[in-house]
Amino acid sequence: MPLKRLALLFSLALVLVLALGYLLLRNLVILPYVNGEVLATQQQEIRGLKFQFQARQMALALMAQDMASDDFLMAYLDGQQVQQGALPLHQGFTLQALFLYDDALALRYYDNDPHFSLPMLMGDDAFQRAKLMPVLDPHRPRHRSGLLRQGGQPFLYAAATVCNPMGNDCGHGYLMVLRHMGEAFRKRIMETSGLAFTLRPAALEDETLPDLMSPETLRLPKAQRDILVRDALGRPTLVLELEHTTKPPTSLTRYEWLAFVALGVMVVLVNLLMGHLLVRPMERGVAQIRAMERNQQFRPMGNTASILEFRQLASAFNSLMRMLYQQREQLNQMARTDPLTGLANRRAMEQFLDEEWRRLARHHRGLAVVMVDIDHFKQFNDRFGHGTGDEVLTKVARVLESVTRRGGELASRWGGEEFILGITEPQGPELEKLAWTIAERIRHLTISSPGLSGRLTVSIGIAYLPVGHNPVDLSLTLPELMEEADRALYRVKSEGRDGVALWCGVDKMGPNRP
Ligand code: GH3
Ligand code: MG
Ligand code: MG
Repeated sequence: MPLKRLALLFSLALVLVLALGYLLLRNLVILPYVNGEVLATQQQEIRGLKFQFQARQMALALMAQDMASDDFLMAYLDGQQVQQGALPLHQGFTLQALFLYDDALALRYYDNDPHFSLPMLMGDDAFQRAKLMPVLDPHRPRHRSGLLRQGGQPFLYAAATVCNPMGNDCGHGYLMVLRHMGEAFRKRIMETSGLAFTLRPAALEDETLPDLMSPETLRLPKAQRDILVRDALGRPTLVLELEHTTKPPTSLTRYEWLAFVALGVMVVLVNLLMGHLLVRPMERGVAQIRAMERNQQFRPMGNTASILEFRQLASAFNSLMRMLYQQREQLNQMARTDPLTGLANRRAMEQFLDEEWRRLARHHRGLAVVMVDIDHFKQFNDRFGHGTGDEVLTKVARVLESVTRRGGELASRWGGEEFILGITEPQGPELEKLAWTIAERIRHLTISSPGLSGRLTVSIGIAYLPVGHNPVDLSLTLPELMEEADRALYRVKSEGRDGVALWCGVDKMGPNRP
């Protein structure tokens, strides 16, 4: 898999793991903790509300008790004549109603806002009313307060036993006051509690809502919550539709989404950067190596990568390749050189002749094969030793080398004491002259063994195709040309050695072919 795709996959996997990890951490560790904290705060908020309700009940109870500690009320309940103005009125106390009951809870006096229907408090059912009243203790004042649903409306009520101002004669009856829990009530509680809520009358199905009086039973944090308020008789009375100030964390927030997007963008950017820093130099390197492979040629790799290690790699690769190419050159050279004489060897000559022969067909430059064989070399070896023989071979090689310095000329050691020269653009007379020059110089070689001068001779056989001829037209092949050179050499040998024979591909001395 290419590095680019691998990096992309890896990065995507990383993002996925990070996102999953974050979500897991968020949902399994952070959220439960935060929710616990939020729930505790919300319970606290509801406790605050509960306290507000209770404080208002208590305030109303104290007020009722104050009003009930009154000699006139006692006298009225005992059946004495009391001035009408001495009895309390609801308006003066911002109440919606007030009731005076005797010790058997029979209604004796009331003053109420006629907008409200209060059947239970104004009717004959003293038994029902008893459930709302404090215990009648003749020796000390008692009070009780709470919520009461009447005629579908919610009220705060407070009941106090009617006593003398000293508070030690309290067996005469009860005073009950009612305050409507309307919009004004809601606003006051909202102001003092700092919580926003609306009130609505409770319906039957609200029975299952959490109770204001037991905030501890709340289980889950919520942004909004309906709380049931019951009256003193346990009947669903009000539903508080509450907006908590501390809300539980919802699904992923804007910032979390933003973080995910930023992470994604970062991954893409890092990938692009990695592609630029890592992948591109690698691709370029691979392309360069491929080109070298194709062209069979060494080109040093560019050293422009931004990453130090890549530059080091390129430079190490370059030195390695340079070394390999140098070694290859040396091997090539060795494979084409005769180790004793330093001349081209047989393989190099074969290659030279092949190439020149092919060129011949196109350019008609002509080609000569000059075979040079040392005469009686075996005897020479036997007499003067192999070492001297080698010396002679080397010196002969130097002679041959010295006469083939032009481009298109090559001297080689064909094998043993036999040498071949390849010469392009040959002219018959010049070839012959060259052959004699060679023979002459070899004759006059100075050899370290004494008494040898003038005794070293060579036989030279030459076969050539002159300039301007196409071997194809003459149906002449390279092996045939070489054979003719060999034959010419053989002729010289058989005619006594130390001579030159020439065969030309086009004159009448031509090959004895059928
Ligand atoms: P001819 O005149 O007919 O060519 O006779 P010749 O003795 O030169 O030819 P022959 O082929 O009979 O012997 C060639 C000799 O060359 C045999 C061998 O001793 C000698 N020779 C071949 N290679 C080497 C070499 O590398 N070093 C030395 N010192 N002698 C060699
Ligand atoms: Mg010989
Ligand atoms: Mg020979």
